[in-house]
Parts: sequence; C-alpha cells; structure tokens
Amino acid sequence: MARVRLEEITKRYGEVTAVDDMNLAIEDGEFVTFVGPSGCGKSTTMETIAGLTMPTEGRVVIGDRDVTNAPPKDRGVSMVFQNIALFPHMDVYDNISFGLRLRKYEQVEIDRRVERAAEIVQLEGMMDRMPDEMSGGQRQRVAIARAIVRNPDVFLMDEPLANLDAKLRVHMRTELQRLHKELDTTIVYVTHDQAEAMTMSDRIAVMNAGELQQIAPPLECYNEPANLFVAGFIGSPGMNFLSGRVTDAGFESTHASLELDPESHGVEPDQAVTLGVRPEDVHLARNRDQADAPSRTLTMVADVLEPMGDEIFVYLLFDEDVETSAEGRGEGQLLMSVVPDADVAEDGRVDVVLDRSKVHLFDGETGDAICHGLTQAPARSEAE
Ligand code: ADP
Repeated sequence: MARVRLEEITKRYGEVTAVDDMNLAIEDGEFVTFVGPSGCGKSTTMETIAGLTMPTEGRVVIGDRDVTNAPPKDRGVSMVFQNIALFPHMDVYDNISFGLRLRKYEQVEIDRRVERAAEIVQLEGMMDRMPDEMSGGQRQRVAIARAIVRNPDVFLMDEPLANLDAKLRVHMRTELQRLHKELDTTIVYVTHDQAEAMTMSDRIAVMNAGELQQIAPPLECYNEPANLFVAGFIGSPGMNFLSGRVTDAGFESTHASLELDPESHGVEPDQAVTLGVRPEDVHLARNRDQADAPSRTLTMVADVLEPMGDEIFVYLLFDEDVETSAEGRGEGQLLMSVVPDADVAEDGRVDVVLDRSKVHLFDGETGDAICHGLTQAPARSEAE
C-alpha cells in the first residue's frame, strides 16, 4: 500500500497540453478513478504515475519516494490495460507466473503467489486452460491475477473493462470492488464511463481538457458538482440546464422564472446564471404540496415518453413550437423522470415543479457552482 502524490504535473505534446498543472493526493488504500471524456488526459495522467510517460513539469511521489525519474519497474506499481495481452500459447498458470519466473523467484514462492491470486479472482481449477478456451471476463481476471502476483503498492487500471460486453462489465465492477476490499491496496483507475466511476470509487477525479475539475466522493460530485462540466458529465441522463439572469424577483429565463432571494444565495442582482436541475428533481405539480405551487409551477408539453420499466423519462417542452435539438436537450426543454404509473400522456399538458432544495445555480460566465439547493425566498413584509 502507498500514497500517490501528483505535484503540479503538466504534460505537453508539442502544442497539445494533455495534462495541465495537476495536483492530487491519493491516500493509502484508496480507490480513485479518473473519469472524463475521451482525450481529456486521463491515460496520460495514469502513464505519468506508471512511469511510461515523463511529465514536462512536476513531480510524482509514491509512498515517500520521488519517482519522477524512476523506471516503471522500480515504482511498485502493476498495470492492467484495456487490451488483455495474454500470451496465447501459454496456459493460465504460465501467464500469471510469467513475470515472477522472469525475475527468478523460487518455485515455492511462485506457486504460493499464483494460488492466492487465482483464489482472489476466482480462477481456481482453471490453471491449465489456454486463453482461447476462456471468456473475455475470465481472460481479464487472468490479467488482474498477473498484476496481483507482483504484490504492488499501487494498482493502475486503464479502462480494464472497456472491451467486455455490458453485462459482464457490470459483473466485473462488483469483482473489482471485492478485490479492492480483499487486497486493501491503493487502486488508480481510468474510465470514460461515469457509471463505472460512480459505483466503484472512494473518490472520483473528474477531468476535462487536461484539467482536474473536481475530486470528491461520487455522491458529492453528483449532489454538489463544482461546475457546469461536472454537473453535466456525472449522472445519466444528464442534468437539465436553463440559462438566465437573476432579477429582483428571482431567476428569469426565456421560459421559466423562479422566486429566489439573490442575497442569501450569493448571487449578484442581474448576474447571468445557469440553473441546473436533475430529471429526478422535476416533479408533477399535483404530487407536491399545492400550497407551494402557484407561482412556481411550470406548464409544459410532454413531447416524448421513454418507458424504462422502473421509471419513465418524459421530454418536456415549454412550448409546442420549441424545436427539439438533435444534440440533446436545448434551452426550451426539460427532462423529467416519473414513476411508471404516472398520469402523463404524449402531447398532453403537464404542470411541473422543480424541487428547490435540489436546484443548482452556476455562474453564467465561468460555469463555477454558486449554490446547491435554493431555500425559499423570504415572504416580503407588508411594510416594504
Ligand atoms: P484520455 O485518456 O482522457 O482519452 P489521453 O491522455 O490519451 O486522453 O490524451 C490527452 C491528449 O493528449 C489528447 O489530445 C491526445 O491526443 C494527446 N496525446 C496523448 N498521447 C499523445 C502522444 N503520445 N503524442 C501526442 N499527443 C498525445
């Protein structure tokens, strides 16, 4: 086990800044996942930890050692990649033990380590299988066992489940969590799949365009996203956004208005803001406390219904005339999630309310979060 520290890591490839001034401390035994869209610098960050890439600037510290210039084999790390490169002509035992044999470990020690690794990834009894006699999931477990036998201080995993089919991926997520519990080792994981990041990690590091956007436990990224990027990337389907302004009365956009006390939310009057609300925090008005509703109800049109079995996604339009955008939700649209037996019909009118305790405000220019959850605007006194 070991801590991993990245200090002011920058990596440039010519004009491209793949990683930009990354500072990060991963604790001993922690499972941290780098997540973000393709090309955001996840793999480059991982490779600087592994020693496969030298940073242009900055330091990498593993345990108490500055390993910035150390070769990969001297860093105490083991890597598992997306492409499971097993030797096709070797059976499972030989594949798992290959590195140990190369390093001339004693046979008793090799057997002991292979046996333990096979037990952890549940490959007992398969030692003489050849790779082409195994499923994708089993081959990936061989690759993980091969990493385990090296007793690394830190496991580095770069999209290890990307080539598996959807069902197996979900199964392997649980296996990796179990593995983490069993080995109690620091795991650094890379994925572009936010669901994978959310389900397995102690903390997730959300990246965009080479920059770290937020590092926090999964639910904190979900409930208190640091900025618009994190808000939009974490959660599926994604958060709804409405851009508008703060006026004396509250939030105003082309389509919606919401009462709000600007001062208590740290918003400047007339400030441009983006309001964010997740599909599950948009409710049918009649399910809510009606006393709260009149000034807050949005009357919309149910454009498209997507029944998912356990819930229905309802694409709402503020106005029938709003053009639906091909790239997803546009300004005049909201996505709502309702229970399967909800009384909503396609093309019908629906009154909806936003759960104010779950509404987020972001700065209209920087995209940084201003507040998560709106308390009610105080009633104006008669004397005013
Ligand atoms: P991710 O893992 O998030 O998909 P990468 O770390 O692979 O992103 O890449 C980050 C950026 O750096 C991308 O723009 C990519 O094109 C660039 N990049 C990565 N490796 C190299 C390389 N060896 N040479 C030039 N550019 C690279």
